[in-house]
Amino acid sequence: MKNETILDVKGLKTQFQVGKNKIAKAVDGIDFHINKGETVAIVGESGSGKSITALSIMQLIPSPPGKIVEGSIELDGKDLLKYTEKQMVATRGNDVAMIFQEPMTSLNPVFTIGTQVSEPLIKHKKLGKVEAKKQTIEMLKLVGFPRAEQIYHEYPHQLSGGMRQRAMIAMALTCAPKLIIADEPTTALDVTIQAQILDLMLDMKKKTGSSILMITHDLGVVAETADRVVVMYAGQVVEMASVKELFVNPKHPYTVGLLNSMPKIEEDVERLESIPGMVPPAHSFPQGCRFAPRCKHAMDKCTEALPELVEDGKNHEVRCVLFDGSGKGVSHV
Ligand code: SF4
Repeated sequence: MKNETILDVKGLKTQFQVGKNKIAKAVDGIDFHINKGETVAIVGESGSGKSITALSIMQLIPSPPGKIVEGSIELDGKDLLKYTEKQMVATRGNDVAMIFQEPMTSLNPVFTIGTQVSEPLIKHKKLGKVEAKKQTIEMLKLVGFPRAEQIYHEYPHQLSGGMRQRAMIAMALTCAPKLIIADEPTTALDVTIQAQILDLMLDMKKKTGSSILMITHDLGVVAETADRVVVMYAGQVVEMASVKELFVNPKHPYTVGLLNSMPKIEEDVERLESIPGMVPPAHSFPQGCRFAPRCKHAMDKCTEALPELVEDGKNHEVRCVLFDGSGKGVSHV
């Protein structure tokens, strides 16, 4: 069966004006797609451009100082960048919904959970209040609230962090969106609650048939949830592969560094490796490979020109001079 693409991002560039004459290239020409029913994770440190990618898809970039300057974002074949704000308002929460790291930033403290979760049903699906309430209580049950009728009348501050995140998931899923964008959905939660929320998201994905774009810095979350992974560094995609391929056969030195900084159950190591240095600021990327100042394999040619993203092995793309598309790597000695 041919995969059906639900989201197709091509050549996306999002920039910010910094001071009078500096431009921060937060997202600098990225391409990736998500198939129907698929979970794709974008992974990278903070400053890699992953959250700006999510906000660009939702068209929630604060403007000014931010602006999408190039590219296309097709959701189910329609370019969201050609939409008017009115069309985007009709799309957000209906065709594409977002789950944020801290639910209190998106749950309004002065409205009950019921009012907020039912709002998309009233606004987008034009349901009457009685039917919207019925469906909201069903959704609250579905995301695991045992006393859903009571939760319907409660306010966000009456719930724990994990319960608020469940309410956010209910709100995001209430209109059965084609795509859910989850930006670090479990980062603010306790470890045990994190696992429950990830399980819930995957379970709900199965039930609703939605696709998920998972934005995370946590490779543990990637391993548990994703089908494919996009590794971002300094506004660009540096590696892209299936989750299995990426964990078994990582190619880009940045990906290898991220994996080495992750605790492994089978290895008893005293100290985890870390990647030296930091992601460069988006208004002053180094010339050539942007990872070069932190890369232990860096050589002269790395700083001469920006390496291209090349297919190196089946459905495995990498942006590094050590890989030329042969699938075998390039000898640099
Ligand atoms: Fe390292 Fe060079 Fe590859 Fe960049 S291009 S990741 S500096 S080896």
